[in-house]
Amino acid sequence: MKQNDHRKGSPLQGRVIAGLGKACEVLSNERTFVCRPRGRMYIEDPDLRPVTGDIVSFFLEKGDEGWIERTEERRSVLQRRAPETGKRQILAANLDQVIICMAAHSPPFRRGMVDRYIVLCEASKLNLLILLNKCDGLCSSEVDTILSPFQVLGYPCLAVSARTGEGMETVRLALQNKHSVLTGPSGVGKSSIVNFFDPSLQLRIGELNAHTQKGKHTTTVARWFPFLGGALIDTPGLRELGLIDVRLEDLPWCFREMRPFLDRCRFRDCQHEAEPHCAVKEAVLSGDIQQTRYDSYLQFRTEIKEETQKLPYTSESA
Ligand code: GDP
Ligand code: ZN
Repeated sequence: MKQNDHRKGSPLQGRVIAGLGKACEVLSNERTFVCRPRGRMYIEDPDLRPVTGDIVSFFLEKGDEGWIERTEERRSVLQRRAPETGKRQILAANLDQVIICMAAHSPPFRRGMVDRYIVLCEASKLNLLILLNKCDGLCSSEVDTILSPFQVLGYPCLAVSARTGEGMETVRLALQNKHSVLTGPSGVGKSSIVNFFDPSLQLRIGELNAHTQKGKHTTTVARWFPFLGGALIDTPGLRELGLIDVRLEDLPWCFREMRPFLDRCRFRDCQHEAEPHCAVKEAVLSGDIQQTRYDSYLQFRTEIKEETQKLPYTSESA
């Protein structure tokens, strides 16, 4: 491969709007290009490989194909441990907020998964919004039972129905002029929410896929598109959300209700697990910290410990 041939003239700037395996779609001046990152390092290092939402500089090679020369520094990322490889996977870059979408039912609300998202957002200092869809037919006390555990922590929550339109105007206000990622398990109504605001979008997404002949990947890649004066990244339904880049010693801080107690434990290095005179455990007993949140804390602790032990092996495997 002649590496330098493409570097003629000055590079173009664009936005990565979808990843396509080793290439990605880049939007620049209202045109879409299929670009490959330059060099092997982009393929192998998740920090350098362009992801949806990235701003990149690229050189045109032929037609609508090009080479990505560089990825601009990301102002924020949503990332997880990829279930297939155990490695870090950046789902979306350059975000103002993460919209955690869940259904009130069908599929059932996953409290533990919301806790996971919250930890990942806290660790990356990302704003989040919990969007509870399919609230049509539910009474307010049913909705409260689901949302109040998060509302009392100060996280913004919206109860909506993409089907009836209930609550959707508040969603519009929350999304407009911002760069958001809409994420959650499949079947919770993410596409229905997008379609509610912009029914032509599915069509446009279809056209984009026809353009790259990668239509079959529609449901497996995150897609960036302009939305309500800002942008939305629509992720495929995520079944699992492994924690990544959350150090064991930082985990308590990612549970924001634990913060006031963290310097009140007897032992400075208290893990808030089995130690005596632990202010966090006392707060759980007195009801100041919710038992289910504390259970998530213990579960994530175990998980991070296990992953840390596996580390020398996972970095060897593909
Ligand atoms: P996605 O996989 O998250 O994109 O979910 P979809 O938008 O494809 O929706 C999954 C299913 O839930 C579809 O059958 C929708 O009709 C249904 N659905 C979506 N929003 C609502 C809602 O607000 N209320 C109800 N009852 N069903 C909904
Ligand atoms: Zn403690």
